[in-house]
Amino acid sequence: MNPIVENIKVIKNRMSNASLQAGREPNDIKLLLATKTVSAQNIRVALQDGETLIGENKVQELKDKFDSLKDIPHQSHFIGHLQTNKIKDVIQFADCIQSLDRIELADKLQKRLALEDKTIDAFIQVNTSFEESKFGVTPETALGFAQQLIHYDRIKIKGLMTIGIFSAEENQVRKCFRLLRNLQDQMLQKHIPVKELSMGMSNDLETAIEEGATIIRVGTAIFGKRINADSYYWNEKK
Ligand SMILES: *Cc1c(COP(=O)(O)O)cnc(C)c1O
Repeated sequence: MNPIVENIKVIKNRMSNASLQAGREPNDIKLLLATKTVSAQNIRVALQDGETLIGENKVQELKDKFDSLKDIPHQSHFIGHLQTNKIKDVIQFADCIQSLDRIELADKLQKRLALEDKTIDAFIQVNTSFEESKFGVTPETALGFAQQLIHYDRIKIKGLMTIGIFSAEENQVRKCFRLLRNLQDQMLQKHIPVKELSMGMSNDLETAIEEGATIIRVGTAIFGKRINADSYYWNEKK
């Protein structure tokens, strides 16, 4: 068996074990393949195995792989830091932006989408680890930000996204995910339709599923360790 296919099997097992542990329905949790630095050929292996959701961190990579993958049905989410000068490309090549994190970006996105008479799905990225180096709105400003976004009719808010703290202490990681879940509850009470919680990666997906993740984003555990991944690391600010 191809190692990618084998690794996906292992991840699916981890997902269903964690779901059962948490008393959740395994089908309620989607797997997004984090495909930064992964070749179109290797992504294809996963898509042919039945996967349908990929996530890219860089607009250039999203663009480069688009043609090679367009014949095979899948959804593509943008999960990296989005610069406003890349909006035009991202709305052409991605189905959803998981890293909406500032009004300036929403403004420009709305304008461009209106010009092209398009809409796009989006998640609000929240910095739940309080690390300076991470992108995302702060937890204190997240609700206000979400309430502003409601007025942007071209941007369809679907959920919240976070990257848990990089820590060996499970409790610290759990705190991040629980915070995102609490923000979701607050927003749902205000009728902001944030049904999805995108959280959990190769090392912490079980914790994320226990805390309510509906999408986990997995790269390393499926495609192996990334070489030359410095410029992507945790999508941190430089
Ligand atoms: C790389 C990346 C992931 C996947 O991380 P792994 O540890 O490789 O599973 C998830 N989310 C984002 C935003 C990423 O950049």
